[in-house]
Amino acid sequence: MEGVEVERPLKLHFIPYLAPGHIIPLGDIASLFALRGQQVTIITTPSNAHFFTKSLSSADPFFLRLHTVEFPSLQVGLPDGVECLSSTTGLDTSNKIYEGAMLLHGPIEDFMENDPPDCIIGDALYPWVHDLAHKLQIPSLAFNGFSLFTISLMESLRISNFFHDSDSGSFVVQNFPHCITMCSRPPKIFAGFMEMMLETILKSKGLIVNNFAELDGEECIEHYEKTTCHKAWHLGPASLIRRTDQEKAKRGNESVVSMHECLNWLNSKRDDSVLYICFGSMCFFSDKQLYEIACGIEASSHEFIWIVPEKKGKEDESDEEKEKWLPKGFEERNIGKKGLIIRGWAPQVMILSHTAVGAFMTHCGWNSTVEAVSVGVPMITWPVHFDQFYNEKLITDVRGIGVEVGATEWCLDGVEEKEKVVSRDSIEKAVTRLMNGGDEAEEIRRRAQEFGDKARRAVEEGGSSHNNLLALIDDLKSLRDHKAR
Ligand code: UDP
Repeated sequence: MEGVEVERPLKLHFIPYLAPGHIIPLGDIASLFALRGQQVTIITTPSNAHFFTKSLSSADPFFLRLHTVEFPSLQVGLPDGVECLSSTTGLDTSNKIYEGAMLLHGPIEDFMENDPPDCIIGDALYPWVHDLAHKLQIPSLAFNGFSLFTISLMESLRISNFFHDSDSGSFVVQNFPHCITMCSRPPKIFAGFMEMMLETILKSKGLIVNNFAELDGEECIEHYEKTTCHKAWHLGPASLIRRTDQEKAKRGNESVVSMHECLNWLNSKRDDSVLYICFGSMCFFSDKQLYEIACGIEASSHEFIWIVPEKKGKEDESDEEKEKWLPKGFEERNIGKKGLIIRGWAPQVMILSHTAVGAFMTHCGWNSTVEAVSVGVPMITWPVHFDQFYNEKLITDVRGIGVEVGATEWCLDGVEEKEKVVSRDSIEKAVTRLMNGGDEAEEIRRRAQEFGDKARRAVEEGGSSHNNLLALIDDLKSLRDHKAR
């Protein structure tokens, strides 16, 4: 009988937070388990379900299902369908979405009590997952979409009271395996949030990380496990589960450009010649900042694909409105031959994977970062908030696979207007530093490509992430079987 027990698939329930940067990678990680024959259920709300119906096509539907629970729109005072952080129009909407997400506890508990899983994999933004798992007497694993480098760095900063002391000068991080100097501090509201998330992570049985061990580094993993007595499971990069252009293009939202249009344009370009610019799913720069970007990229004279999110409620843009963020004649001079502007959701992983892309100007969201690393593309770093300033340190100071544009100001959300803009000169300087050749640029590109090779090896048979996945499945099975005895 024992052999049969070991082969019985695990029943796993995944609960991603209601934001693309959490939903997309956790969906791919859920697929990894399903592809290995485990029975996976992803729980989300109706308006977020489309992320999975498109995302999960590669996994066998027999092993992977979706369960939706209603979002409490009325209770939190949001219009129907506004259930995802990328549809936010400001801090007030984000807060209400968070409030609604906390209220999902009740219906999810009802669902699980009927038919409990063997383990819950819940986002660390849901502090109630641990209590639910405890009630059902099953383990829970945490996921928060950050790298372990960043989580460890945040934990070291927490211990040194960095988030709360009022000193505004630069700060050398103590009790951390790398020499890191932080120049800007998060607003107080973030500090509380980060502390709550760290606490939730440490209560869980282990942490699932969308990264591969070689990028976080053994020194960082050892430091984390030693200082927190908590286990981290590196299972990524999650995006590498997608092999074909079609699978890559289908990831996340519906793209506003056709896959073929995009590929045809990229196919006409030389290797490493195109600058890809995108600031994630939740960052809306002011017209003034967009104008500086347009001037900076035009001055650099490199080819580009620039993703500009659509302004909420302003889908039809007049020429007058356009001139607020695009210099006169910019489109005539550039669009088509020299560059593309994609207004809305773009197939990022597919674009980044193309050999024509030579650099990525990014807000350093962790998914964007690890997606670029996976395909060996060096970065121009432009952090905006949350974990992004810490990811920038990993990219530039620690791994040397990117250069900074020089952004230092924290934003409360991606919609709020910043006081300072990053100037066209800083943008042009960073682009030419990375894309005009020279010893420094070549060395950065070589290191980025080396990490790209390591990432691909990590997810192959026998690679570090692949081995971790098998070990985690075994671990959870023996916990379940031990409990059943
Ligand atoms: N993304 C995309 N197309 C877009 C914008 C974003 O595919 O036009 C994806 C991107 O590939 C990544 C995710 O959305 O997987 C954004 O996550 P990230 O952590 O980089 O940033 P966030 O949006 O959470 O700030």
